Parts: sequence; C-alpha cells; structure tokens
Amino acid sequence: MEPALVLRSGRDRSVRRQHPWILSGSVADVLGRPAAGDTVAVLSDAREHLGFAAYSPASRLRARMWTTDPAAVVDDAFVAERVLQAASRRQHLADVTDAMRISFSEADGLPGVIADRYGSTVVVQLATAGAERWRDVVADAIIALPGVECVYERSDVEAREREGLAQRSGVLRGRLPDVDTVITERGFRFGVGFEDGQKTGFYLDQRDARAAVAGVSAGRRVLNAFSYTGAFSVIAAANGAASVTNLDSSAAALAAAVVNAELNGVAPAEQIVGDAFSELRKLRDRARSFDLILLDPPKLAQTEAQVDRASRAYKDLNLTATKLLAPGGILMTFSCSGGMSSELFQKVVAGAALDAKRNLRIIGRLQQPSDHPVPLSFPEAAYLKGLVLEAD
Ligand code: SAH
Repeated sequence: MEPALVLRSGRDRSVRRQHPWILSGSVADVLGRPAAGDTVAVLSDAREHLGFAAYSPASRLRARMWTTDPAAVVDDAFVAERVLQAASRRQHLADVTDAMRISFSEADGLPGVIADRYGSTVVVQLATAGAERWRDVVADAIIALPGVECVYERSDVEAREREGLAQRSGVLRGRLPDVDTVITERGFRFGVGFEDGQKTGFYLDQRDARAAVAGVSAGRRVLNAFSYTGAFSVIAAANGAASVTNLDSSAAALAAAVVNAELNGVAPAEQIVGDAFSELRKLRDRARSFDLILLDPPKLAQTEAQVDRASRAYKDLNLTATKLLAPGGILMTFSCSGGMSSELFQKVVAGAALDAKRNLRIIGRLQQPSDHPVPLSFPEAAYLKGLVLEAD
C-alpha cells in the first residue's frame, strides 16, 4: 500500500491553504507503514488526495508538505529541481554578494533544507527526517551548481534531536578550499569559519541591516552588542564611525572580528568579551555612552512557550542599552525569535524605553533579506525583526 496520512476532519484546511505543516494532532491514521523521511500521500478524512509530505514519526511536526499537487512524483528529479529553482531565484543577489542563502527550508519548498553559499562553498543543514532522506540528492544538486566546489554539512542543530537524528558535520561533496573562506558583500570582505562558526558560519540574514548601519554610522560612537565576528563593526568603521566597541561572549568570534577589521583596512574595535546582560550594566556604571547601539542577541525564545521569559530578557537588554544611548542616539534592536511577533517585540522595546525614561521614535524597520523569503501561506518563516530607534 502506498504510505499515506489520513487527516482528521477539518484538518485539511491548512493544507489546502498551502501551509506546509501537519501536526501530530491532525493525523487520524497512518497507512502503509512509512519510515522516517519517507514520502507519504496526504488524504483528507473523506480520502481526497491533497498532495505529498515528508514523514517525521518522531516529531510533533509529523509531516511537511512537498507539494499539494496529487499528480506530482516526489523523486530525485523533483528534489533536484527544487534546489535548482531555489538557487536560481537568488541570482539577482550576485551583484551584491557572493554569499547568500540558496535554500530556506519550507520557504523554498525544501522542508528542513538550509543551504548557505559562501563563494565556492555551500554549507548545508539538514534539520528533518525528510531532508535527511534526500541528503544525497540535495548534495548532488548543489555540487552541480555553477562555481560550487565544496558542499559542507553542518547538521549539528538541536532540531535534529526532535526528529530522532544524530548530529553530523563534515565534507559532503567536493573538497575543502585550500584557503580560508572570505566572502565579499557590497565590497566588504568577511571571513567565514563555516566549520566551527555559529549556525552555518555567517549571519547572512543581517545583510539589509548591514546596509542600514552604513547609513547611520558617520561620526558616531558605536556599540555593537552581540557582535559575533564584527560584521556591523566593519561597516560602521568604514563609514566614518568615531569609535567602535564589540561585545560578545565568544572569544573566538571576537578574534575573528579582529581579522575582519584587518581584511577591510579599518581600525580594530575595542573588544569586550563577556555576558552582555552584565557587561552592558558595567558600561553604564562606568558612565560610558554611545551614539549608535546595535543589539542583536541570539534567539532568546526557542519556542512559543518561552516567549514570556524571553520577553523579560529582551526588555532587560533594551532597557540597559537605552540607558547607554547619548542624546540623539540611535538604537538598532533585533529579535530573531520566530515565536515573538513584531508587535510583541515593539511592545517590549516600548516598555524598556518607558522604564529608561527616554523618548524613542521608530525611524526604520528591518527584516530578513530577500534570500530568506516568507511565503504568504507560511508566515512562520518570518523570524527576524529590527527596529531603528532615534532618541531625543
Ligand atoms: N550581529 C551579529 C550576529 C549576532 S549572533 C552579526 O551580524 O554577525 C548572536 C551573538 O551573541 C553570537 O556571536 C553569540 O556568541 C553572542 N552571545 C550569545 N549569548 C551572549 C551573551 N549572553 N552575552 C554576549 N554575547 C552573547
């Protein structure tokens, strides 16, 4: 029997609206004993064929839609074509950068497949049983893209545990480049330690924010909190910042920030290694102040259940940062927690400004760039939000 999931009555609605997720509670019956990652037909309770999905028996997110076309055949050619299409959609970015996300999971019709291109190397992260099932096909399709010489796997994400998959990293296709990987974005050069860096090595999702930083840095004393490898700092320094301070808990990231400054011929930033929650307070105690503060913490809410606790952490950070803002200063503050809506984020930041007794105005909003698209049918893909705030 062809493996299939039968949905409970009424649970076909989201599938019909092109939403890719089928939660365990929506499944009435599993037919034909599919294995993890297998493609299953999706049937309504009236047994109408709604399309095909990748089966994740260990996860609450029980299946992810490949297609709502019941006539489609999900095979090697299907998956390879999806990879090719996703990569082609990014071609316009080549004028700006040689580093871009070429597959953003469900948003590109490739559930569980993240692929980030850094010059001739593509770093892939396979987060789900379905992605794992097509690992070789995905790798072959990527190595066949023009100019790609290495496919490196960084499937060492927590999400894999929810899928019952082990962590894994290493070369998947081709061979490692002989020299350190350096990408070029709008003329700026950044080293990417994709083997041991965070996520796949570089925060591609802050590309548009980097452009925004360029426009507001001149003459300002800049604090880059959660700086990682100092990408914002390079942009600020090159655009005439009066001074730049990096703050991060990772000494390795700060060491890479020194290299990035050198690569771009800008002065190295002041470096503070430590926990931002306490280091920001210390800066306040030392009466330091800044004219531009970048606040880009890691995902503080991993799930929606953690949003309340995360809100308190975001508030704390934004409160302390606001107190460090000089009159007329600009705060660029971000949340990359998908579970936190932009409305809630704005409310939290408003609460922080109120407690800091400062008037802040929104003069800009930032979000993930075009290589992290958000299908209208899948708003969950939107995770990164930023506010550009100007103080009195
Ligand atoms: N703005 C960066 C990306 C920041 S990612 C960029 O554009 O490249 C989040 C960073 O926060 C990581 O570098 C991580 O090392 C750091 N970090 C995580 N927890 C921290 C903490 N409690 N205090 C300081 N830094 C922290």
